[in-house]
Parts: sequence; C-alpha cells; structure tokens
Amino acid sequence: MPALVSHPDEVRVLSKRFGQGATDIDKYIELDGYKAVQLGIANGPQWIIDTMKASGLRGRGGAGFPTGLKWSFVPKNDKAKYVLVNGDESEPGTCKDHVIFLHDPHSVIEGTMIAGLAIGAKMGFIYLRGEYRYLLKIMEKAVADAYAKGYLGKNIFGSGIDFDVITQTGAGAYEVGEESALMESLEGKRGVPRIKPPFPAVVGLYGGPTVINNAETIASAPPILLMGGEAYAKLGSERNGGTRLFGISGHVERPGVYELPMGYNLKKAIYDVAGGIKNGKKLKAVVPGGSSCPVLLPEEIDVGLDFDQMGKAGTMLGSGGIVVLDESVSIVEFALRTINFYQHESCGWCIPCREGTDWIKKTLTRVHAGGGNKKDVDNVQYLAENMLGRTFCPLGDAAAMPTIAFVKKFRKEFEEYIEGKRVEHPLIAIKPLG
Ligand code: NAD
Repeated sequence: MPALVSHPDEVRVLSKRFGQGATDIDKYIELDGYKAVQLGIANGPQWIIDTMKASGLRGRGGAGFPTGLKWSFVPKNDKAKYVLVNGDESEPGTCKDHVIFLHDPHSVIEGTMIAGLAIGAKMGFIYLRGEYRYLLKIMEKAVADAYAKGYLGKNIFGSGIDFDVITQTGAGAYEVGEESALMESLEGKRGVPRIKPPFPAVVGLYGGPTVINNAETIASAPPILLMGGEAYAKLGSERNGGTRLFGISGHVERPGVYELPMGYNLKKAIYDVAGGIKNGKKLKAVVPGGSSCPVLLPEEIDVGLDFDQMGKAGTMLGSGGIVVLDESVSIVEFALRTINFYQHESCGWCIPCREGTDWIKKTLTRVHAGGGNKKDVDNVQYLAENMLGRTFCPLGDAAAMPTIAFVKKFRKEFEEYIEGKRVEHPLIAIKPLG
C-alpha cells in the first residue's frame, strides 16, 4: 500500500478515514459511516438534491458539472433508473479515485445509495478501470459486507426501498471513461461513445435515466449530507464548493494525493504542500489537471485551483492530477509521450481523432528523432487546432489542447530539435504502446 502523505493545509473531508482501516465495515460505521444514507432516507429525495445543490459540488471527473443539478435532471417517471459510478480513472497523472477505493470503499457504496435515493434508482453500478482489478477485490468485499449487514438489498434500513450494487471492471481502455462509452461497455458492447444529447440523465444505461458521476463526486455525497450543503460550500471558493483530492506528481519533493480546499493556490500546492521542486532544480512547466490540460509556465501558476480560476488562466482544473516538470524535461519528448498515449487510446470511431492523433504522433516522432523539417511545428499546430471541437467525444480535444499549448509555449524548443541543435535524449526511443 503506498505511503499516505499529509500537510497541515489539508482539509480532510473525503480523506478523513484514509489509513484508519475503514475498508472494514465496522470501522467505517464507527467513523460515521452509513449515517448519511439514513439521513437521506429520513429527509427524502428533494432534501438530498437541495443539499447537494447548496454544497456547490461540481463533478470531480474533470468537467465540473454541478452535481445537484445533474441529479435534478432525472425525470420523475416510472422507468427503471440507474446510478453509474465512473471509476475508470485513466487520465495520465490522475490517481485520486484510486486512493478512495483503496482506503474508503464504503464511502463509494454509501454515495451510490444516496444518489439512488435522490433519483429513485434501485440499482447502482461501480465501474473500475481494467488496471484497477486489485482494487475491485476491495470493492467486492465492501459490497459483500454491506449486503451481509442488510444495508444493501431489500428494504434498506427498514425504509421499504430496495437498492442493489454491482461492481464491474473495464478491459483497459481510456475511452470507456467517457460516460457514454462507459455505458456501452457496461452493456457488453464495444466501448465507443454515443451521440449526446440525449444526456444519460434522460436516456442512459439500458435506455433508462442514469446518473453517472465520478467516484470522488459520489464519495463526497455522504459528508455533504452530514455537514450540510452550506457548510461544505464554505470550505471551497466561489461557485466551487468543498475540497478536492489533488494528485501531485513529477519532480516534487513530496509527491502524493492531498485533500485541499477548492481554490487553493497552485503555486502553494507545489512549493508548500508537495515540498517544492526536487533536488533544488528549476521549475519548467506544470500540467495542472491531467494530461488533457494545457500546460502552464512557471509565471502562470499563481492561480487558484478551481474550475473557474483555472479556466481564466487558459487551462483546466480537469481531474486534479498536477504533473510538475523540472528544467531537465524535454517538452518535445513530453509532447510526444502525451500524443503517443492519445493515439493509442483513440477508439478509432471518428476520423479527426483517429487520423489526427496518428498524424501528430508521426510528425512529433520525426521531430524528436532529429529528422523534422521546418513546416512540422506549424503542421502539428494546424492539425491539433483542426481536431479541436470536431471529434465525436472529448478524447480528440484532450489530445489537441495540450499539443497546441506545448507548441505555442515551447515553439523554440521544437525548432531546436528540427535545427539539430538539441537531442538531449538520443537513447530514449518512444515505444509504441501496446
Ligand atoms: P461534459 O461537460 O460534456 O459533461 C459533464 C457531465 O455533465 C456529463 O455527465 C454530462 O452528461 C452532464 N451534462 C452536461 N450537460 C448536460 C445537460 N444539458 N443535461 C444533462 N446532463 C448534462 O464533459 P465530459 O465529456 O463528461 O467530460 C470531460 C472531462 O473529463 C474533461 O474536462 C476531462 O478533464 C475529464 N477527463 C477525466 C478523466 C479521468 O480519468 N478522471 C479522463 C479523461 C477526461
């Protein structure tokens, strides 16, 4: 089990049970577990939705859509409804859902039950990425323990309401983290995206209204109901309620997953919380919220970590995966590694993504190997700009946005490779994935 990190600036709402043995259901119960769902049963669906709206919780998968609002979109008809927990955490640099499954699996189950109560669903699915098979064992045990206590199944907590939870893993495809591809995968089909609208809240899994939330979003529901929506909102910044798990990785002294208030300063997160740049080196760049976010330069990191402030800074809060790069990093190589990932993970469903990622990868491979020509940098930018907004799902954007930022902010470095002035890592061959 990876060592847990901590810092005095952390506000432990989601992570309060980490390292406390809360995979054991009795420990979870001792530490306030399964109280929130009973509160939800006592106060009813509208109270749950109102509390979630008041909390200002925004989707922690990366898009930041208001959770209470999403739950309120589910039509009040008698169709079978579902809750689908997206634990297909695959964005490079992101490892926050991982620690929730590892340390506090019951919070995901309890959050799923709360979402189910809110929308009138009788069934929830918890879907983990294929590479998290070892975490599936933890989740499966937690679900079995909750059934054994009578917390799941028929007549939960004597409410007359039935609720079942099913766990599932993917087979290792980044694309199925996209919510509609996730539903296709869960239904046993090839994991490619569906056209939206209709949004899953109206037509989702097996055609029924479905709330799909990231695992961290779902795990936030129990503490929100317990502390009240307004109190949770106050922990964060304007229009960005609460706290969030940030995975800080790369060239920092103390990498790890830290729970910080929304709006916490990115520079402080890197220099104070994560201990600054490793071995006294200089900071070169920061990928602030997973690999799809445009990179920030050192002079751009004095910014609050919330959806709005990061947007104003020309990047995204994304999935909370902060990747710190020191002066030793070749941005050309980093850009190539990034597009290598997206090219490999493109589902191939739509042409701009399938061909665009492949073309950019081929061009950057040539540039990195020292065989580029003068037009290559412009071509890469042109290709990426023409993918943006033109693909079936956000994977194309996720590949294009960082590529554009790398080329715009580090153009000189790409040109140096082309001019043969710079090949720092001649021995590193970027191997094709898979
Ligand atoms: P999106 O903005 O299209 O949708 C966000 C959510 O809001 C979805 O659940 C969607 O169904 C819902 N929604 C939006 N408009 C709605 C409406 N009018 N009615 C009902 N529901 C509505 O974003 P997305 O495509 O789901 O996600 C993109 C994000 O995913 C990126 O910002 C990226 O940061 C993130 N991402 C995360 C990971 C990860 O591993 N966590 C991986 C890749 C990408």
